[in-house]
Amino acid sequence: MAAALIETLTSVEDFLQRQHGSFIDGTCQLNSASETLALRNPADDQVLASVQLADAGQVDRIVESAHRAFRSGIWSRLAPAERERTLLRFADLVEAHGEELAQLETLNQGKSIHLSRAIEVGASVNYMRYMAGWATKIEGQTLDVSIPMPAQARFNAYTRREPTGVVAGIVPWNFPMMIALWKVIPALACGCTVIIKPADETPLTALRLAELAIEAGIPAGVFNVLIGRGAQAGAALVAHPLVNKVSFTGSTAVGKQIGIAALHNMTRFTLELGGKNPMLVLEDADIDKAVAGAIAGGLLNQGQVCAAASRLYVPVSRHAQFVEALSAQARAMSVGPGMDPTAQVNPLATRKHQNHVLAMLAVARREGACIATGGDAPDSPGYYVNPTVLSGLDQRSNAVQEEIFGPVLSVLPYNDLEQGLALVNDSRYGLAASVWSNDLGKVMDLLPRIEAGTVWVNNHVPVDPNLPFGGFKQSGMGREFGRSAIEGFTELKSVCITY
Ligand code: NAD
Repeated sequence: MAAALIETLTSVEDFLQRQHGSFIDGTCQLNSASETLALRNPADDQVLASVQLADAGQVDRIVESAHRAFRSGIWSRLAPAERERTLLRFADLVEAHGEELAQLETLNQGKSIHLSRAIEVGASVNYMRYMAGWATKIEGQTLDVSIPMPAQARFNAYTRREPTGVVAGIVPWNFPMMIALWKVIPALACGCTVIIKPADETPLTALRLAELAIEAGIPAGVFNVLIGRGAQAGAALVAHPLVNKVSFTGSTAVGKQIGIAALHNMTRFTLELGGKNPMLVLEDADIDKAVAGAIAGGLLNQGQVCAAASRLYVPVSRHAQFVEALSAQARAMSVGPGMDPTAQVNPLATRKHQNHVLAMLAVARREGACIATGGDAPDSPGYYVNPTVLSGLDQRSNAVQEEIFGPVLSVLPYNDLEQGLALVNDSRYGLAASVWSNDLGKVMDLLPRIEAGTVWVNNHVPVDPNLPFGGFKQSGMGREFGRSAIEGFTELKSVCITY
């Protein structure tokens, strides 16, 4: 695996050398008694940096800091235009430090430097600017009421949206910076204060963001970062009585635990969970375009994308042609470190996850999968899995029903469109789906019948800050982005005035 790596910035080297810990009340707070976790570079398994995990006392301190900052009004009662201006300054700083953040993400998470630059930084900056604008557009309604008493009284009634309070944003390791910002910026636009808990394996960009937030003028205590394992620090955060809202992105299994834990305190929650997303190719589809769409929408970030295409349904008459074209493209992809700009497939985020994907491939083999390409890992200390195309699987097999979250595409044939649609909907998940066709009548008939929070036509995976994103069925509860995000970080208050 030859690799020509880009040069690491000095600022990145310096950041990696530092001892990191949770970011509480405007500073990194270290505690020599805390457990230290070594972070590893997924490209070569070498130690990259180290972070101290928060203990129970630090969980309390971080929540108290966010609670104090919220109650003080230093952020929540700031004029909306001032909040907007501050968030726009924050976006400018993220853009100005874009290369540094992109390199940190690639070194920590493994993804391509192109993806870090374009998505983790580029798309995030667009999202930040879009969401900053909501700070000045939060609105209620005036409502006519018919209250009969006291006689002759007149009423004026209206609603207002008020910040929910302290938000715990719990983030997975697949897009650590972007998903953190999906939570931080709308919450701050609404006037909330935030504690981000990144996945313990990928905390670096969230820590750097917290420093940039201070530089942008966001007051200490308004944006905090809790470093810790999910089952300890994460669970303690969710259960904390001073947390008012949990915004969670991660697996369905953990999402259910979080929803149940949050209910004990009536803490509000939004859950963005797993997916097993179908792509339905119709008889008339342009196969080359559909294959390119499957590569882009299925192998992006090595398939570690909640909305990635992973079940591909193709008419039986075109199945063989599709499998052959898809495998040829997947086979031709170069595998290498994210810091090598020519590598098209990069390591998975952790050794544990690489083992999970390889174990799922072993299960698929036992279930009778025909491996058209891939199915194994290259000889490397990094956490790679070769891009894989499977066929010959039964709809009820594990590989078709369970989230693999790796560079694995399963292609299945269908006989007629009704059967194709039934297969698409035969999943406990319902995050996203795509339809590939130019037959407008058929597409329009299918759209309302597909059980998914997002349906793309002739593309798979693009998201936009203005387009609500979230899941049907076991893919989640609530929506992020657009107005939905603002509703998710505010409480609705009714006001009724007698005069
Ligand atoms: P995960 O559920 O294991 O962990 C997610 C986060 O939750 C991490 O920060 C983890 O430390 C924390 N956590 C774990 N247990 C916890 C607990 N008991 N209490 C509180 N926090 C806890 O998920 P992951 O493996 O990091 O990420 C992959 C999963 O995320 C996949 O299922 C993927 O589909 C999903 N995901 C969903 C979306 C979406 O928008 N729907 C986006 C990205 C990823």
